[in-house]
Amino acid sequence: MKFTKMAIVALAVMLTFAVTAQAAEKKVRWKLAMTWGPTAVPFSDAVENMAKMVEEMSGGNFVIRIDASNKHKSPFGVLDMVKLGQYDMGHSASYYWKGKDINLLPFTTMPFGMTAPEQYAWFYHGGGMELMQKAYAKHNVMSFPGGNTGNQMGGWFRKEINSLDDLKGLKMRIPGFAGEVLAKLGLTVTNIPSGELYTSLERGTIDALEWVGPGMDIRMGFHKIAPYYYTGWHEPATELQFLVNTKKFNKLSPANQAILKNAMKLASYGMYTQNYHMSAEAWAKIATDYPNIKIKTFPKSVMDAMKAANAELLKEKAIGNPLLAETLKSQADYQKKAREWTKMSDYLYLEDNL
Ligand code: CA
Repeated sequence: MKFTKMAIVALAVMLTFAVTAQAAEKKVRWKLAMTWGPTAVPFSDAVENMAKMVEEMSGGNFVIRIDASNKHKSPFGVLDMVKLGQYDMGHSASYYWKGKDINLLPFTTMPFGMTAPEQYAWFYHGGGMELMQKAYAKHNVMSFPGGNTGNQMGGWFRKEINSLDDLKGLKMRIPGFAGEVLAKLGLTVTNIPSGELYTSLERGTIDALEWVGPGMDIRMGFHKIAPYYYTGWHEPATELQFLVNTKKFNKLSPANQAILKNAMKLASYGMYTQNYHMSAEAWAKIATDYPNIKIKTFPKSVMDAMKAANAELLKEKAIGNPLLAETLKSQADYQKKAREWTKMSDYLYLEDNL
């Protein structure tokens, strides 16, 4: 009798172990929606590299299918689709959501803000990640750095910009806080997904646009229509984002959570170096291969007006938005501190070695 009882207990324990082991081995299949098309290199590469790392590190047990914008047809619907659980993950840019929630605006880049190394230091060590999770918590999603473009170019214009008057009345594609700055200076600003940029410029829906930098811009052909290529002020360190549905993340095993987090982090840094390389390569050939492109810098009067409008808007937006105010202050404080070191290290070094 005693033996039978023990045998039943032993069998029950064995069954429990077997079921647990089976559950642990169950394959996780996720879907990711990205704002970009399938060939938006290096943005799309960051996503593919992340998914590849997840699959390899999990021994094939965690697989992420990637849907580009031509599949899901909703480039700016990525946050909503991840929030609603239609997709487990997304890849996009936080400043695209400023119209839905102003608190999500500052996690991509800010005009006259931090450079990529400064901003990565802020995200990972200076409180940036915590503020970003706080801002996304009410949307039931988590946000992680998703690849940095480095300093972006100021955009493509049909005509030379010699004064503020040349800017007034222009219709320009420019997202984020920079769009608000230019709107304050009399431009009509809009955001258009990457796949429609060339056609919009060609058809005159817009007069000017900014996209990323030479590595990505030149292959888009903007220079054929708008050959004045201005240096940047508006996106010194554009960080893309991985969005993850919080419920789905919490259902992952601790091992898969760690795999996903590390794969996202590695893929982000990988995109930063890849885009740097692409831009360096494109820049080296720009004068010989594209002699019609005219490289320009905005005149001081225009830059001063942009800076003044930016400072005014920062104050205005913070009023009545405590979380935004907290984030902007955290960024400004961090930038002030980190910039002293940037000056002492990279800036002084470059000054003597250009
Ligand atoms: Ca841009």
